[in-house]
Amino acid sequence: MTGAWTKCKSVLVTGSSRGIGLQLVKELAERSDRPARIIATARDPASSTALQEISKAYQGVHMVTLDVNSQESISSAVQEVQSIVGSEGLSCLINNAAINISTDLNTVTPDAMMTTFQVNSVSPLFVTKAFLPLLQTSASQSTGMGLHRAAVINISSILGSIQANWGETAAFKAYAYRTSKAALNMLTRCLAVDLGPKGIVCMSLHPGWVKTDMGGPLAELTVEESVSGMLSVLSTLSEDDNGGFKDYRGHTLPW
Ligand code: NDP
Repeated sequence: MTGAWTKCKSVLVTGSSRGIGLQLVKELAERSDRPARIIATARDPASSTALQEISKAYQGVHMVTLDVNSQESISSAVQEVQSIVGSEGLSCLINNAAINISTDLNTVTPDAMMTTFQVNSVSPLFVTKAFLPLLQTSASQSTGMGLHRAAVINISSILGSIQANWGETAAFKAYAYRTSKAALNMLTRCLAVDLGPKGIVCMSLHPGWVKTDMGGPLAELTVEESVSGMLSVLSTLSEDDNGGFKDYRGHTLPW
């Protein structure tokens, strides 16, 4: 929808040092209908040359340090973001940061499960809780539901779909990753129940299988194809999407 992103005053992306997160920041910054403030967070922004270049090339791209596993890092990021967005609050939080430790039934360990759950399922909850006051500030300034008001987008995966993990698609047995994304999907639903009535739309979004460090070189999509699709899907975000699970083409996915 043309112009939809202009109505979104600010977007924060976690894990924007590389891959899909970096491309989300780049494409948002390049749009003619771009949000005024793009907050690119990363564990160590100084170590991402690509992110540094984007923040130098485009006005209104703010780099903020955020390790999603650290409550201390989350708290100081919230303070920094508060000073960037001011009284307008935060319009859109994209929980993108994640890890994928390769684990099948033989190789899975308690440590691999716990480490993956921490980053992929627990951290998105506590990042969202920490930014909630800023999201509520934005939500309190409009009516309806969508990018113009407030949104929490959890970057999930079809691999987190319990229904889809049956038959042929069940071949890829990534125990830690699949279960962590299934938990993230339930987090989306819980947040949607709690935050929907406050005007904050919450949804899970699958980027497709994408050529990044995580997706690998054999993946189906370039990062550009995936991200332009996701931004287009998000541009039509409405109350119908609250508690939903879609892919980068806008197709509804099974839970
Ligand atoms: P990458 O592995 O390429 O990038 C992962 C990003 O997450 C990096 O920026 C990394 O930062 C960051 N990250 C990891 N741990 C933390 C942390 N503790 N705090 C802050 N940032 C952290 O992955 P993709 O770009 O491919 O994936 C992005 C999202 O898309 C993920 O949620 C993934 O599960 C999902 N996805 C990806 C698919 C694909 O095919 N690529 C398919 C389906 C879903 P650092 O550089 O510091 O390590």
